[in-house]
Amino acid sequence: MLGHSILKIAREKTLVQYKLFNIREYAENRRCVDDRPYGGGPGMVMKPEPIFNTIEAIERETDARYKKILLTPQGERFSQSIARELARESHLMLICGHYEGFDDRVRAGLDAKELSIGDYVLSGGEIPAMVVIDAVVRLIPGVLGDLDSTASESFSDGMLEYPQYTRPAEYKGMKVPPVLMSGDHQKIKDWKRSRALERTSEKRPDLLNKT
Ligand code: SAH
Repeated sequence: MLGHSILKIAREKTLVQYKLFNIREYAENRRCVDDRPYGGGPGMVMKPEPIFNTIEAIERETDARYKKILLTPQGERFSQSIARELARESHLMLICGHYEGFDDRVRAGLDAKELSIGDYVLSGGEIPAMVVIDAVVRLIPGVLGDLDSTASESFSDGMLEYPQYTRPAEYKGMKVPPVLMSGDHQKIKDWKRSRALERTSEKRPDLLNKT
C-alpha cells in the first residue's frame, strides 16, 4: 500500500520516507518475540524487550527522535484532528502489536500516544498503522496537488462535506443542482455551506454539538 497512489506520490516528491522494521531482527532470540501470559489466559503476549531494543536501535541508526504511536484498541480514538497534529511531526514511529497485544510495560515504559482506529479488535496493528499513515500523509503540504482540497472535506471544519457532482448534468432523471452551474460564486459558496450543515445534522448531529 505504501507503493500506491497518494502514499507513493508523496515519497516520489520526497515529502515523506517510509521505513519498516521487524522486531524479530532486534530480539536477542530471534524466534521469540512473544510468550504466554502470566496468570494464565488465552493466546500470546508480546514481550517488552524486543520492542524496546528495536526502538533504541532505530533511534540510534537513524539518529533521530520519534513521536511514538502505540496502536491499541484501548487508545484514544483516531480522528482528523489527531491526523492534523501528527502531520506536523517530523518523525513518527508507529508500533504495531499482534497476538493478544503488548506486555503492559511497553505502554508504561514508553512515552507513546496510544491510538485506536475504532471500537473493534483486529488481529494486528498493520492495518491500523496504514490507516494512520494514509490520513496523515495526505495532509502534508504539497502531497495533494490542490492545496485547498483538504480544507473543505469532511471533519476539517467540524462538518461533513457538501454533496459533490460531476458530468453529466443529468443522469437517469437526476439533475445536478442548477446553482452549481450558475457561475455565481457567492451563491455557490452559500449553497455548499448550507448543504454541508444540512448533511451534518442529518447524518452526524454529534459533530455539530461538539463545537
Ligand atoms: N487483547 C487486546 C487486543 C489485541 S489485538 C485487547 O483486548 O485490548 C492485537 C493488536 O492489533 C494490538 O496490539 C494492536 O496493535 C492491533 N489492534 C487491534 N485492534 C486495533 C484497533 N482497533 N486500533 C488500533 N490497533 C488495533
